[in-house]
Amino acid sequence: MENTETILTNIARIRERIRRACMQCGRQPDEVQLLLATKTVPASAIRTAIEAGERLIGENKVQELRDKDAGLQGLDLERHFIGHLQNNKIKDVLKYASCIQSLDRISIAEQLDKRLQAEGRSIDVYVQVNTSAEASKFGITPEQSIAFVKELARFDTLRLKGLMTIGLLDADPEWRRPSLRQLRLVRNKIMRAGIHHTGPLGLSMGMSGDMEMAIEEGATMVRIGTAIFGNRVPGKEVWDESADQIISTPG
Ligand SMILES: *Cc1c(COP(=O)(O)O)cnc(C)c1O
Repeated sequence: MENTETILTNIARIRERIRRACMQCGRQPDEVQLLLATKTVPASAIRTAIEAGERLIGENKVQELRDKDAGLQGLDLERHFIGHLQNNKIKDVLKYASCIQSLDRISIAEQLDKRLQAEGRSIDVYVQVNTSAEASKFGITPEQSIAFVKELARFDTLRLKGLMTIGLLDADPEWRRPSLRQLRLVRNKIMRAGIHHTGPLGLSMGMSGDMEMAIEEGATMVRIGTAIFGNRVPGKEVWDESADQIISTPG
């Protein structure tokens, strides 16, 4: 875990990397939102980043959302859920997160909708697409995307904001490009299908190791952890909620 000064320097570096990557491909830096991936990061370090002007964080575990909540009181921040969502965590995730980026099952959409109806409100969602079959078992397949988004249109409480993917994590970053590009192609296909309720869709993709490439491929949100907060506890680099299983060890 990095100290305060290092976190601030790292954020400035990431902002500069975003700016440069956008310039390289003729995009505007404000087209790309920065989400801080804060799994295993203590509330105090998150506070440092928010007080420096960041606003958006993403957690992988409902437990961490809950545990850090008290330490984040009084801050102007937006919390997204980016991990694998389990049935029994629906109520809690809605307590803390304003956006679920990992929606990949209609059964979860149904339960979110039921709960939100009861609370009389709605929430933003991204659909997680598995664009690299071998890297993760979560996310719908690209082939399922149109049918899935059509089904989602019946839930008034879920505002579809975009698609999310975890790019193929491989030693050679150029191997990742096809999986990032595929998310854009899937998005374009959905947009062309003109599905009821579906406005412009964003692309949440790109992590510390592949964020320039993701921006080139059209990312509207990058999710950065290690490059800001330093290495996580060894053995918990990138996990999925259900199994605490490591799905990658980005370099
Ligand atoms: C951890 C994580 C990230 C950030 O990864 P880094 O390599 O630390 O930047 C992004 N997205 C998800 C879903 C993650 O779990």
